[in-house]
Amino acid sequence: MIDPYINIRSEMVEKQIVGRGITDARVIEAMKKVPRHLFLNPAMHHNAYSDNALPIEENQTISQPYIVALMTQSLQLTGKEKVLEIGAGSGYQAAILAELCRRVFTIERIPALAKKARERLESLGYTNVAVLTGDGTLGRVEFAPYDRIIITAAAPDIPGGLLKQLSDNGCLVAPVGGRDFQTLRIIQKEGGELSEHDLIGCAFVPLIGKNGWKN
Ligand code: SAM
Repeated sequence: MIDPYINIRSEMVEKQIVGRGITDARVIEAMKKVPRHLFLNPAMHHNAYSDNALPIEENQTISQPYIVALMTQSLQLTGKEKVLEIGAGSGYQAAILAELCRRVFTIERIPALAKKARERLESLGYTNVAVLTGDGTLGRVEFAPYDRIIITAAAPDIPGGLLKQLSDNGCLVAPVGGRDFQTLRIIQKEGGELSEHDLIGCAFVPLIGKNGWKN
């Protein structure tokens, strides 16, 4: 089927992604390829390539394209990695990751969202993504260790259990801070030692769970 949004998406990537300093060619290609509108309700399709986070079902959001690109770039994916995402939401970020690594596990706490994300990813032909339902603040030990971990909901702090499930030489990216405003933080694990640095300010919906915010 012809994609009516192909040109608008390409323009969005040039303006919002390349224009704001994203340089990883693989990330740029993935952002051009994945049809963000298909991760939204049809009534929202016309807005899909605006420079915004947008509402999805269950009072949650799909992240702003620039933030998706920035977080993905920070993971420095080469194609070989096993990646854990916390907060599947619409499934869009998982699709971008699936384009760039070997295997994606994405956890969503709201079963209805997990079901929809799974259906979308399957209908787009992604066979290297597993959408799991549950509390992502606990990670999923049975598939650990992960080469990369990405948390796409606002964490009061990085859950310690997730750091244990991160491979040596791996990295984790997450919005960390208050319920309303956070900083994108990157944690690197090398020789068992952790180091961190911050990227930019951001605003995500809260990470709710045993090692996150209370509901
Ligand atoms: N990555 C998503 C996308 O591409 O559409 C956007 C994620 S949205 C900003 C945050 C998601 O995290 C919501 O769907 C929310 O239900 C989910 N969430 C919050 N706490 C969670 C937890 N403890 N475990 C798993 N998912 C969680």
